[in-house]
Amino acid sequence: MPKVHTRLDVDVAVLTLDNPPVNGFGLEQRRLLIEALDAAAADPAVRGIVVTGAGALFSGGADIREFGKPEMIASPHLLDVLQVAESSPKPVVAAIHGTCMGGGLEFSLACHGRVALAGALVGLPEVKLGLLPGSGGTQRLPRALGLARALDLIVSGEPVPAAQLREGALFDAVVEQDAVGAACALARQLAQAGLRPRLRERPVLDAPDGSDGSAAAQELLGARREAARRQYPRQPARLHAIDAVAASLGDFDAGMELERWLFFALLATPESHAMRHAFFAERAAAHVRGVPADTPVRPVRLVGVVGAGTMGGGIAMNFLNAGLEVVLVEARQEALERGLATVRANYEASARRGRLSAEQVEQRMALLRPSLDFEALASCDLIIEAVFEDLQVKRQVFERLDAVAREGAILASNTSTLDLDAIAAFTRRPADVVGMHFFSPANVMKLLEVVRGRQTSAQVLATVMRLARSIRKTAVVSGVCDGFIGNRMLEHYGRMAHFLVEEGASPQQVDRALEDWGMAMGPFRMSDLAGNDIGWAIRKRRYADKPQVRYSRLADRLCELGRFGQKTGAGWYRYESGSREALPDPEVDALIRQYRHDIGRVARAVSDREIVERCIYALVNEAARILEEGIAQRASDIDMVYLAGYGFPVWRGGPLMWADMQGSYMAARRMREFAAQPGADADFWEPAPWLARLAARGAGFHEA
Ligand code: NAD
Repeated sequence: MPKVHTRLDVDVAVLTLDNPPVNGFGLEQRRLLIEALDAAAADPAVRGIVVTGAGALFSGGADIREFGKPEMIASPHLLDVLQVAESSPKPVVAAIHGTCMGGGLEFSLACHGRVALAGALVGLPEVKLGLLPGSGGTQRLPRALGLARALDLIVSGEPVPAAQLREGALFDAVVEQDAVGAACALARQLAQAGLRPRLRERPVLDAPDGSDGSAAAQELLGARREAARRQYPRQPARLHAIDAVAASLGDFDAGMELERWLFFALLATPESHAMRHAFFAERAAAHVRGVPADTPVRPVRLVGVVGAGTMGGGIAMNFLNAGLEVVLVEARQEALERGLATVRANYEASARRGRLSAEQVEQRMALLRPSLDFEALASCDLIIEAVFEDLQVKRQVFERLDAVAREGAILASNTSTLDLDAIAAFTRRPADVVGMHFFSPANVMKLLEVVRGRQTSAQVLATVMRLARSIRKTAVVSGVCDGFIGNRMLEHYGRMAHFLVEEGASPQQVDRALEDWGMAMGPFRMSDLAGNDIGWAIRKRRYADKPQVRYSRLADRLCELGRFGQKTGAGWYRYESGSREALPDPEVDALIRQYRHDIGRVARAVSDREIVERCIYALVNEAARILEEGIAQRASDIDMVYLAGYGFPVWRGGPLMWADMQGSYMAARRMREFAAQPGADADFWEPAPWLARLAARGAGFHEA
C-alpha cells in the first residue's frame, strides 16, 4: 500500500514516500503526495517542507507497470505533482539517499532545493526503456548541470553517484550523512530568506549566451547526435532525448511541450515496446513455477568448483568478485596451475584497464583455495562441476561429490548437453542436484540457465536463483533437454545459416544481414569465436541419434581442414596472427563452390530479408516446441535467454517478441512458405502446434 508519512521536525514538515519496493510514483502515491504537500502548505506551524524516501532509497521513479495503461495518464499525473511542489508557497527540499532515478530525480528537480548523500545514485534511465524523461528531466537537468553533463546522464541512462555531480546547481549540498537533517536546515534557510529557487527560471549553464543560437551549444549537440547514431543504432529514444535537451536552450514551457510530445511518440514505438518487454521479462524470469517466493533458501558462504579449465576458472571468478571464498579442485597439478594463472591474468587485465586496483586483485586471489583433493570440498555449501563433457567423467565426479559433500550441499553441473537427470542419479541426493549452465566467458556473460532436474527441490532452485542475482547473472530456468533453451534453438539457427550458404549466400552476407538487423555477431563469426569443432562434435552425434534431421555437410568439410575458427587462425574467415578481425578467405569461397558443385546445387541470389527471416523464424519455431514441452516456463523466459546470452538486440525484445510483432498468423504463413521452397527442410518448418494454435486465434506468444 502506498503511503506518505508526515512528521514535524520543529517547523519543517518531513514527508516520507513509502511505497515498496522502490517508492515508485504510481497513481495512488501521486495523489497522497499532493495531499501531503497541500496539508503542509496549509499548516501554519510549517515553514518548510522536506521530501524523503522510506527504506533504502529516495525513489525509483514512475511506476512502469502503468506505462501504456490508463493509470499512467490518470489524474493527477506526475507532472501535476511536480507543479504542486514547485509552486508551493513554502520551500520544498528533496533529501536524497540510496537511489533516485527517473521520475524520482525529476520530482527532486522541481523542488526548491536538493540535498544528497554522497553515495546516492542518481540517473535518468528512461532511454533504456526506449523512452526519454517525460516529466521535465530534459528541461530542468540541463539548467542544473549544463548541457554536456545533462546529455551524459540522459543519453546513456547510466546512474552516477551524487558525489560526482557536486558542480552546478543540481545539489545545494552533498553530505556524508543525515541528508534529511541537512535538508531541514536548508528548508529553514530558504524560508528565512523568503526564497524558493526554481530551476525553470535558470538559463542552461554552459550555453555561453544561453540562447538557441550559441554555436558552441549547437556543435556539442551535433557531436552528441553523431555519437548516439553510432553507439545506439536503431534506438530513436537516444536521438529524441537529445532533441528534447536541445530545446532546453529556449523557452521552458515550449521545451516541456516538446518533451511531452516526444515522450508519447516514443511510447508508441516498437523499440520502446520491446525494451519495456525486456525489462519485465527479466523480472518475470526470477519467478519459478512451483517455487513460492517465501521458499527458504540455504545459506551459501563457501563455493566449490571442480575443473579449472575454460569454464571452471570463469565460474570461480563470479563468486570471488562477490566476496565469497572458492575451493577450486582439479585432477592434475598442471591443469590447476594453468587455471589459476588464467584467473590471475584476467584480473590483471581488468587492473590494467583501471577496473580493479592491484589490492583488489590480491584480495580476490586470496579468496581462492586451489586443491587437488576432493576432500577440500567437504564443507562447501555449493559445488559446481565443470569437468570434461563426458558422462563417465561426470559419473566419477558426482559419485565422489556424493561421498565427500556435506549434507544439504547443493551439487551443480555446468554440462551443456548431458542429461541432468542421469547425472543426478549418480548421487543418493538427486533433489540437491541442479544444472548451472554458465556461458563462455563465464565471468563476463550475463546469462545463467538454471536447469531443473526431475527431482531438483524447490529450496535448491530458490537458493540458486537468489545466488544468481548476487553474482549479477540473469538466471532463466530450463527443463532438461539436449541444449536446454538457448543452444537447442541456436542449433536450428545455425542449420539455417549453413543452408543459406549452400543455396547461394556467402558467410559474409549472412553475418552482415543479421548484424545489420541487430544481432551483436553473425552466426559464422560467432562459430569461429566459439570453435567450429564444438558444432561438428554435436552434428556427428546427431547424424547417429537423429538421422531424420537434415544438416548441410558444408561445415563438416570446413572442419575436416582443421579450420576450427579463431583458435586455429582460420574458420569461415581467416585471422591474421594475434588478430580477431574476421577477413574473407578465397579458400572458403572455393570450398563453398566445390561443395555446391558436388551436391548439384546451382547458387541463387538470396536476399538479406530471407536470411534474417529464416534464421530468426528458426529460433521462433523451436521456441514454440520448447514451450509445448514445458522446457521453458514462459515465452518471455525464452526472450531473456536470447537477450542475455546470445547478443539479441534488446530493442527487438527477443525472438518471440519479434514474432509477436510480425503476428502469429503471418509467422506461421511465412514458415509454410519456407517449407514449400525446393529442397527445404519441410518437417522443421511445419509450424509447431503451439504456434499453430496461436495463429488460429491471431494471438501472440506473450498474451496471457
Ligand atoms: P575444459 O576441458 O576446458 O576443462 C575441463 C577441466 O576439468 C580440465 O582442466 C580437466 O583437467 C578438469 N577435469 C577433468 N576431469 C576431472 C576430474 N575428475 N576432477 C577434477 N577435474 C577434472 O572444459 P570446459 O570448456 O571448461 O567445459 C567444462 C564443462 O562446461 C563441460 O561440461 C562443458 O560442456 C561445459 N560448458 C562449456 C562451455 C564452453 O564454452 N567451453 C560453455 C558452457 C558449458
